[in-house]
Amino acid sequence: MEKIDCVVIGAGVVGLAVGRALALQGREVLVLESEGAIGTGTSSRNSEVIHAGIYYPQGSLKARLCVQGRDQLYAYAEARGVPHRRCGKLIVATSDAQLAALQGIQAKAAANGVHDLALIDAAQAKAMEPALHCVAALHSPSTGIIDSHALMLSLQGDLEHAGGLLALRSGVDAAQVRPEGIVLRTADGGEWLCRTVVNAAGLQAPALARRFAGLGPEHVPVAHWAKGNYFVLSGRAPFSRLIYPVPEAAGLGVHLTLDLGGQAKFGPDVQWVESPADLEVDPARGQAFYAEVRRYWPALADGALMPGYAGMRPKISGPGEAAADFLIQGPQEHGVQGLVNLFGIESPGLTSSLAIADHVTALLHRER
Ligand SMILES: Cc1cc2nc3c(=O)[nH]c(=O)nc-3n(C[C@H](O)[C@H](O)[C@H](O)COP(=O)(O)OP(=O)(O)OC[C@H]3O[C@@H](n4cnc5c(N)ncnc54)[C@H](O)[C@@H]3O)c2cc1C
Repeated sequence: MEKIDCVVIGAGVVGLAVGRALALQGREVLVLESEGAIGTGTSSRNSEVIHAGIYYPQGSLKARLCVQGRDQLYAYAEARGVPHRRCGKLIVATSDAQLAALQGIQAKAAANGVHDLALIDAAQAKAMEPALHCVAALHSPSTGIIDSHALMLSLQGDLEHAGGLLALRSGVDAAQVRPEGIVLRTADGGEWLCRTVVNAAGLQAPALARRFAGLGPEHVPVAHWAKGNYFVLSGRAPFSRLIYPVPEAAGLGVHLTLDLGGQAKFGPDVQWVESPADLEVDPARGQAFYAEVRRYWPALADGALMPGYAGMRPKISGPGEAAADFLIQGPQEHGVQGLVNLFGIESPGLTSSLAIADHVTALLHRER
């Protein structure tokens, strides 16, 4: 059996950020990824938005790590030339009944330390985005977009430059907690004795943690999956900023995001599913998008939306339940030395990735 200091399971944006942070601390790091490339999971099926930190409950990990991670991400992208744009976003009220909701969002954002939201009236919003219909809006200047794959390649580069290693096609099957460390077994029969293990397996993190002999099952949440479908707009984008409606129950509403090439897409919606592998976009769901989008963009033409792609939210709360916070458990929570489990790393996980990495290294440092 080979011995190693740290193994990070999963080479999505979070696993790569954690691996990088540990390697930069001078630790020996191996990132094990089951697929043949980095970032083929949720990290390449999202909106690529750098969130400002507006919506999350005060004091939650989502709120804290988003605000911290946003600043870290802008600075990192700037320093490393990772393509990104601070394009800003408008959260729009399309009826007078939603005005109070806008004020509530502004107050929540302020409680999270986001003080740059400006409440603007319909005329001001129209001056910024002539195609927009609304009765009022909140302008968030610190929201942006980023090339998530370029970000992950850069994180991988840092990891390897600091002496860390990435092994592809190296899925972890199971683990066993022993007095001398944690033994990981990979799908090809390999065994690693590790001092530190970080489970950043995204959608698979709860199922994998359940295969850790020696970790109490009460520490592993039940996984739920909420698919988010996107529909792509054919033709030119009508807006230069991201446009979000007032949020709904389990997501942020069918919003318009832009990629760095200027392509506009709408989504993600919320579709609870039984399997995380269910990533087909049903073209029939597009019908509901027309009505949603026309509330803020009445000029949307019939037939202009085409099925795009879907991403899967790694939920740890089910339909109808309050949205759960990120669940990041270190030894103090579950009692297993050297182990950190990351559960429910849904949005804003991309924005928060560098801050999550710092949080994980701090949990491990506390233990030493
Ligand atoms: C529809 C949607 C839209 C989103 N939009 C945004 C956004 O605009 N902004 C934002 O900040 N966040 C957004 N997010 C959230 C963000 O995408 C995620 O939080 C982030 O990508 C999670 O990264 P991860 O590394 O934890 O997971 P993943 O990217 O899923 O990576 C996990 C990795 O682990 C690997 N793996 C799984 N099991 C094993 C195993 N047994 N052994 C080895 N490897 C394994 C997988 O192959 C995968 O590569 C969105 C999410 C969704 C679903």
